[in-house]
Amino acid sequence: MAFDPLLLRPLFPILAQSAYDHPLTYLDNAATTQKPLPVLDAIQDYYRHFNANVHRGAHFLSDRATNRFEQARDTVARFINAPEQSHVIWTKGATEAINVVAYGLEHILEKGDEILITSLEHHANLVPWQQLAFRTGARLRIVPLTSNGEWEPEFSHYFTDRTRIFAATQVSNAIGASTPLKTMIDLAKQQGAFTLVDGAQAVAHYPVDVQALGCDFYVFSGHKMYGPTGIGVLYGKNHALEILMPYQTGGEMVRHVSYQATEFNVLPYRLEAGTPHIEGVIGLAAACDFLNAQDRLALLAWEQSLANHVYTRLHKAGGIEIYSPEKNTTLVSLSVPNIHILDINAYLDSQGVAVRAGSHCAHPLMAQLGVAGTLRASFACYNTMEEANRFCDVLLDAIDLLN
Ligand code: PLP
Repeated sequence: MAFDPLLLRPLFPILAQSAYDHPLTYLDNAATTQKPLPVLDAIQDYYRHFNANVHRGAHFLSDRATNRFEQARDTVARFINAPEQSHVIWTKGATEAINVVAYGLEHILEKGDEILITSLEHHANLVPWQQLAFRTGARLRIVPLTSNGEWEPEFSHYFTDRTRIFAATQVSNAIGASTPLKTMIDLAKQQGAFTLVDGAQAVAHYPVDVQALGCDFYVFSGHKMYGPTGIGVLYGKNHALEILMPYQTGGEMVRHVSYQATEFNVLPYRLEAGTPHIEGVIGLAAACDFLNAQDRLALLAWEQSLANHVYTRLHKAGGIEIYSPEKNTTLVSLSVPNIHILDINAYLDSQGVAVRAGSHCAHPLMAQLGVAGTLRASFACYNTMEEANRFCDVLLDAIDLLN
C-alpha cells in the first residue's frame, strides 16, 4: 500500500503554522526532524507522573522511572535488532558515541596502525579519529570517491593488516549517497579490525539490523529520527564494548569505590557515568514505537520518490549542479553556478521553505566536490509531493531572480 504522509500530519502540529505568511515547508530533516505527539506526550507523561532519578532511590517513583528507563533500552535494542539490551549504551548523540569509542579504543592502538574512514564522513566521524591518530601515532586513511562520485573499484586494498579500526557512515548527510557498507565491513573484519557504523542519517529511513550488518559498533542520534535532542545510542557487540576504556568516570558507572581503587560496573552502566538523560531516553523509545508503527519500506519508498521527483525536475530545468544520486536517496544536495547558496537560502526562507545551506560538517568532501557548500533539501515521513514541488518552484524563482 502506498504511504500517505497526510495521515501523519496531525501528529506534527508544528508543521501547521505559516512562516512569513507562507505555508511552512520543512525540508531540513537531515539536520533534525520534527517530533510527533506521541514523543511529546511520553516526555510530558514522564515529568507529570514518574519523574525521579533512576537506579538509585528505593521508592515508588524511582522504581517506575527505572522500569520505564530500562524498558526504553529494550525498545531501542529491538529497534536495531541488538541481541541484548545491555548492548545499548545511552549517549548525548552520534558525536558523543563516536568519541566514546575513539577514546575507549586508544589503548589498543600502536604507532603505524591504521584507522580507516571514507570520503563521505561527517566531521563527527572524522575529527575523533584524526585526533586519536595524532595521540597514538596511528595513520588516518581514507577510502576515496573518484571524481565522478563513484567508489574506487579497487577499494579493497585500503583494508590492510595494519587496519585496526574502520569507521564509515551508512548514508552521507551532505549528498545522500550510501556506502557499500556490508562489503566494507566484511573487508575490515577479514583484517581483524573493529568496525563502527555512523547510522545518524540512516535510522529514520532504513530498518536497521545491526546483527545482519555485523559491525562491532553502530551509533545514532535520537533527534534525527523523530526523538528528542541530547540523546543518542552507542550499540556495541559485547566483546567490543567490554574492551572500551570508559570515556567518562563518576557515579552510576561504578560498583565499588575506595580512595585506593574503583571497581567499574557491568555493561551497559560501565559506559554511562552520571545521571542519564531520562526524558530523552523515554522520548527516544516513543520515537522508535512511532517508526515501528509505520510501514517502513513504504515510508522509505515515499521519501525516495520525493527526492527522485526533485532530482528529475531540477535536472530537466538545467543549470543546476546536483551532487546527490538520482535514486535511492532521501535528500537532494545542489549548487547553482554563479549564485551563492546563502542568497538562494535567504529567498527560500522568505517564502517559508526551510532547507540547509552550508558545508554540512563535511569540509573535506566539499573540497573534493570543489564547492564551499551546497543547498540541501531532505525529506521525512510528513513531507508531501506538494512540498517537493514547492521547493522546486521557489528554487527556480530564486535562480531567475538572482541570475
Ligand atoms: N553523522 C552524521 C552522518 C550526521 O549527519 C550527523 C549530524 O548531522 C552526525 C554524525 C552528528 O550527529 P549529532 O550532532 O546529533 O551528534
